[in-house]
Amino acid sequence: TDNEKSRKIVVLGFRAVGKSTLTVQFVENHFVDSYYPTIENTFTKAIKYNGQEYQCEIIDTAGQDEFSILNSRHAVGIHGYVLVYSITSKSSLEMVKIIRDKIVNYTGSEWVPMVLVGNKSDLHLQRQVSEEEGRELAHQWSCPWTEASAKHNENINLIFEMLLAESEKLAGTDAAP
Ligand code: GDP
Repeated sequence: TDNEKSRKIVVLGFRAVGKSTLTVQFVENHFVDSYYPTIENTFTKAIKYNGQEYQCEIIDTAGQDEFSILNSRHAVGIHGYVLVYSITSKSSLEMVKIIRDKIVNYTGSEWVPMVLVGNKSDLHLQRQVSEEEGRELAHQWSCPWTEASAKHNENINLIFEMLLAESEKLAGTDAAP
């Protein structure tokens, strides 16, 4: 119906960047210290944003490496992507670049609704990725960016609000899933 829109969201990123922690924090509002890293989970959550109800399906993927092939379940009928790196891992930043290339190749469009997230912002003593690097990458991709802490529930709701806003830019166009 018009009163409720559905949105299918995929969370992608290198292993151990906090994809599950972030998803569980958003959906269930609590911190889990560890999930099975190899298991994919799908969560649902109703979100009210901008006066609109969204029924969200959030796929927390098992984690990608440079050899992973983008699964069609993670590419077909998807309304938006959360691309997660950890500010404590330079290689996790390199991984989101590879993942983004795969999404662009797969979908054949340069612009896909996505949000770039630098998680673990609470671990500033272990920082390997500067704010500037994250912001600059997102600028190149024309997508929103934020740092966040899934552990401390900082900016977690913001991620999904920004993604819904991005997905609205596609809604009603031919490119909409
Ligand atoms: P995934 O493999 O990307 O799903 O990563 P997990 O969600 O399993 O998290 C990997 C590890 O990082 C776990 O021990 C989490 O508790 C920890 N972690 C996740 N998010 C944060 C965060 O924001 N801050 C800190 N300090 N640890 C985090």
